Amino acid sequence: MTVRKILILGGGTGGTMVANLLARHLKPGEAELTVLDHTARHVYQPSFLYVPFGMKEVRNNERPECGLLDKRVKLVQDKAVRIDPRGKVVETQRCGPLNYDFLVVATGSHLDPGAVPGFEGAAHHFYTPEAAEALRGALEQFSGGEVVIGVAGVPYKCPPAPLEFTFMIDRYLKDRGLRDRSKIHYVSPLPRCFPIESASRLLTTELEKRGVEIHIFFNVDSVNPQTREVNSVEGETLKYDLLVLIPPHKGAQVIIDSGLGETAAGWLPTDRQTLKVQGHEGIYAIGDATNLPVSKSGAAAHFEADVVVENLLAELRGEAVTHRYNGKVMCFVETGGLAAPRSLFDYTHPPLPPQPNLYYHLQKALFNRFYFSLIPPARLPGGMGVEKVPATVAEKRV
Ligand SMILES: Cc1cc2nc3c(=O)[nH]c(=O)nc-3n(C[C@H](O)[C@H](O)[C@H](O)COP(=O)(O)OP(=O)(O)OC[C@H]3O[C@@H](n4cnc5c(N)ncnc54)[C@H](O)[C@@H]3O)c2cc1C
Repeated sequence: MTVRKILILGGGTGGTMVANLLARHLKPGEAELTVLDHTARHVYQPSFLYVPFGMKEVRNNERPECGLLDKRVKLVQDKAVRIDPRGKVVETQRCGPLNYDFLVVATGSHLDPGAVPGFEGAAHHFYTPEAAEALRGALEQFSGGEVVIGVAGVPYKCPPAPLEFTFMIDRYLKDRGLRDRSKIHYVSPLPRCFPIESASRLLTTELEKRGVEIHIFFNVDSVNPQTREVNSVEGETLKYDLLVLIPPHKGAQVIIDSGLGETAAGWLPTDRQTLKVQGHEGIYAIGDATNLPVSKSGAAAHFEADVVVENLLAELRGEAVTHRYNGKVMCFVETGGLAAPRSLFDYTHPPLPPQPNLYYHLQKALFNRFYFSLIPPARLPGGMGVEKVPATVAEKRV
C-alpha cells in the first residue's frame, strides 16, 4: 500500500500547529508529513510592535523551524512557485515537484507597499523586522511635530496593532517630553477607527482621552515625500513629520500565480466552517491565507488548526467531515502603560469590550513570553473555536 502524502505549505503559526497536531494524531505509517517553507525560520510577528520602542529585539523572537516541528515531520526549505490542484502537485524553486494527497495552505499574508505611490522610502511601518528597526531609528531622531498613523488598505493582519502603536507612541512621546510638541493623527479607511463596532467605541474613547485626532474614511491614495503629505482618495491631505502606515496586504504570490485566489489580491476562497478550499478536493487553508471574514491573526489560526486537522484526518480515513470553525478570535490590545482590554468573539457574537486592565496586560505579556513553548507545538488547546456536527448532518452538507 502506498503511504499517502500530506503537504503543508508554510511553516508559520498555522502551518506549524497543523503539522504538530497531525504528527500527534496520525497512526504509524498512515501518512507522510512534510512542511515546505522558504525561510525555515519561525518569527513571532507580534514582537515587531515593541521593536520601535526598544522594548524587544527581533533576534530574540525567532527560532529555526526544524526545532519547533515534531520529529515525524519532514521540513523542506524551498519556495513553492505553483500549485496544480488537478495534478495534486506543488512546484518548487529548487527541489522540483512535490506530490500530495492532501495539501494545507498556510502561506500567510504579504505586504504590498508598492501599491501606494510614494509609500516606499517615505512611510514607516513595523510589520517586518527591517521596517520595525528602521522605525526605531526614526523615533530616536524625532524631536516633535505631526505624527500620522494608520492603515493603507484592508484587510491587514492584526487589526489592533496600529492602534496599539498609537497608544504606545503617545506614552513614548510623553516619557521623552515631546508629547506637548507633537500632534498625533490616526487615519482609518473605515467609518470608525477599528473594524468591529463594539470594540471601536472603547478604542475611540481611549484615543480621545490621549488627544489623538481621528480621521475616518481616509483611504490612502498616495504619499508625497517632497511636500511630506499623505493624500486620501476622499480628497483630504495631511502634513506629516513622521508617517507610520501599515502597507496594503495581499495573499502569497504562489496563490496569485496559480490562479487560486478569490480576487487579484490572492486570498484563498475557503469554506468558513470546514476550512476546505472551495472548488478543489483535498486542499485546506488556515490563517491569513484565507478569505474568511475574521481578523487575520495568529489567534484565528490557532482556533482553526484543530478543525483543519480533524477534518483532514476524517477525509484521510474515509469518514465524514464533521468539525466546524465557529469564527473564534481572541485579541488583547496594548493601550500603553500597564493596561490592556481583551476581546473574544466569533461569527455570531461580536466582542463585548471590557475596560483596559492590568490582568489582560499581564496575560498578553505572558503570551508574548511563552509563545514558542505553547503555540507552535500546539500545547494550548484551541477547542473554543471548534464545533462538531453529527456525521449524518455533515454528509448532507459536503
Ligand atoms: C506587528 C504585528 C503584530 C501582530 N500581533 C498579533 C497579536 O497580538 N495577536 C495575533 O493573534 N496575531 C498578531 N499578528 C498577526 C499574526 O502574526 C499572523 O496573523 C499569523 O502569523 C498568521 O499565521 P499564518 O500561519 O497564517 O501565517 P504566517 O505565520 O505569516 O506564516 C506564513 C509562512 O508561509 C511561508 N511561505 C509563504 N509563502 C511561501 C511560499 N511560496 N513557499 C514556501 N513558504 C512560504 C512563510 O515563510 C511563513 O513561514 C501580528 C502581526 C504583526 C505583523
